[in-house]
Amino acid sequence: MESSGALVRLAKWLGLLTALLISFGTPAAYLHFGYQRVDGEVAGEIRYKAQQLSQLIGGNPEYWQFEDLRIGELIKQSGEGDYTGQSRVFDSAGNQVVQVPAETPDFTWPTLTQRRQLFDYGVPAGDIEITHSLKPLYRQTILVAMGSLVLGFLTFWALRMVPLRLLQSAWNRISYLASHDALTNLPNRVLFIDRLQHALAGSVRGHSLVAVYSLDLDHFKDVNDTLGHAMGDLLLKRVTERVKTCLRQDDTLARLGGDEFAIIQTGLDEPRAASVLAERIISVLSKPFELDGNEAVIGVSIGIAMAAGDDATDSDEILKGADLALYKSKVTGRGNYHFFRDEMDAELRARKAMEADLRKAFNDEELEVHYQPQVSLDAERITAVEALVRWHHPERGDVHPSEFIPVAGMIGLIRPLTEWVLRKACGDALNWAPLKVAVNLSPSLFKQPGLVVMVERVLKETGLPPDRLELEITEDILIDETERTLSVLSRLKKLGVHIAMDDFGTGYSSLSYLRQFPFDKIKIDHSFISEFENNEDAQAIVRAIIGMSRALKMRINAEGVETVEQAELLRAAGCEEVQGFLYGRPMSKNDMEAMLDSPAIDDAAKKEAVPLRA
Ligand code: C2E
Ligand code: CA
Ligand code: CA
Repeated sequence: MESSGALVRLAKWLGLLTALLISFGTPAAYLHFGYQRVDGEVAGEIRYKAQQLSQLIGGNPEYWQFEDLRIGELIKQSGEGDYTGQSRVFDSAGNQVVQVPAETPDFTWPTLTQRRQLFDYGVPAGDIEITHSLKPLYRQTILVAMGSLVLGFLTFWALRMVPLRLLQSAWNRISYLASHDALTNLPNRVLFIDRLQHALAGSVRGHSLVAVYSLDLDHFKDVNDTLGHAMGDLLLKRVTERVKTCLRQDDTLARLGGDEFAIIQTGLDEPRAASVLAERIISVLSKPFELDGNEAVIGVSIGIAMAAGDDATDSDEILKGADLALYKSKVTGRGNYHFFRDEMDAELRARKAMEADLRKAFNDEELEVHYQPQVSLDAERITAVEALVRWHHPERGDVHPSEFIPVAGMIGLIRPLTEWVLRKACGDALNWAPLKVAVNLSPSLFKQPGLVVMVERVLKETGLPPDRLELEITEDILIDETERTLSVLSRLKKLGVHIAMDDFGTGYSSLSYLRQFPFDKIKIDHSFISEFENNEDAQAIVRAIIGMSRALKMRINAEGVETVEQAELLRAAGCEEVQGFLYGRPMSKNDMEAMLDSPAIDDAAKKEAVPLRA
């Protein structure tokens, strides 16, 4: 890492500086303070001796200079064997009077000399001069210098080796933490982008392909919610292990957050290779996971974006491409992979346009509610109608609800839209007693508070008895926040409305949900019915669902009944209620009313149903 190198260099220089300071600073300081000390001593000595001499001069101003014995006695340094100074006294003419000791010691450099005037009552009478040798000080300084040089070297070594290693390992740890995901130890987004930039630069040089995979686990949240976060974490680790088995040494697997992973694969020569890897990952992740005794089944959706060596794709762009492709995989049923295509950008723009159009259509009341009859197989009469919203776009024509309902969800329109459908449906159904009216609820409604209050309000305002309203929900609402959702469902049920499980059999864990809530009705998904005639497996499943719903005392409805044969088989299987084009397509309120009013229409429905009994 760049900055770690800088820190290491800084530590090296600091170590060197400290070592130099110790090696040279210590003797320099020793010398400096030693000199100060000697200087101070000499100053004290000279002051004392000058005082003594001045007294002597004061006693004999005319001839003091002849009393050299007394002077010598006065300025003699007593009792100190290692005294290395010499004192000299001069008269006012500058002639030397006395020198103590008489024999000049070896006064070569270095020396320190101080001179002070002698006075006879204020009149200069001569000088005293004291010279000290600095040799002992210098000698000691050299010893100190040698010691501190050794110390300095040791310091340098210690500072360089020990903390550098500590620093290096601390730095390595910090940069590891900052660039890796703590749970899986995989590179995080920051490192991923860094590697991606390198890979892209490398591919430009090497003229090879770089593939970026964006992975999103399917149903991960479900595991997290049902088995708890600890198991969710364990699952993420297991997923990491499995994906790693599909990769080569130089591929990068990163965790970008939550259940999102990404892969960089370099050195590809054709996009086919990317499909191979994607398929392998989908296959290894679709096998059940064993999590401390619990089994979890998830899946993965993948988006792939490729960059060729010759174009200047930047990392953001390619990752965005992979995300768009991933989005495509998710909306086309999960558990698959898509390559990024340029059109995806256009699709995204088209969705934005659709969002604006939908908002406008809703505000301008361009939406409509249509009704499809639900027919009781044994009584051969319409028992209920399902409200289905319709949007006729001025340019695009009829837009399918499966296209615009998710869009409404994304732009926060699902609530007002549902309330509007609910109000219309309840209002219209008032005149259709005793028929029930079924209204579809999107999963997202259960994520925000106020759903129960809204339903209660609409019932009150329209005056529809609650037991004539049936709310259709899909299994997905139970995937997230199951507890909360179940409590909302219970409160709805307490209002007196009925709850139906729609599209049964298509979800992740259909059966387990039936145990958790007493649904009033189960609607078998039309996909089973469309295969019903020719597929024995589908028949077996439908029979099983019917048997089970009987046992659970839930009513059953088969959706998408289009042929007499289907109806017949369903009746034989014990199905009570059907819904489908055979009995009527979704139709406007007026058409619905006409159908209900006219006995002929009811007969027509019967007529369709009559052959079923034969
Ligand atoms: P769904 O709740 O499963 O609605 C039944 C769908 O099956 C309707 O599609 C209906 O037209 C279609 N269908 C009915 N009988 C047959 C048949 O015999 N054969 C075939 N092939 N299809 C049949 P539609 O009206 O296009 O609605 C699609 C989905 O949009 C609905 O599926 C429902 O999930 C959603 N949706 C419709 N209206 C609303 C609404 O007001 N709110 C919410 N949240 N979702 C709605
Ligand atoms: Ca429905
Ligand atoms: Ca359905």
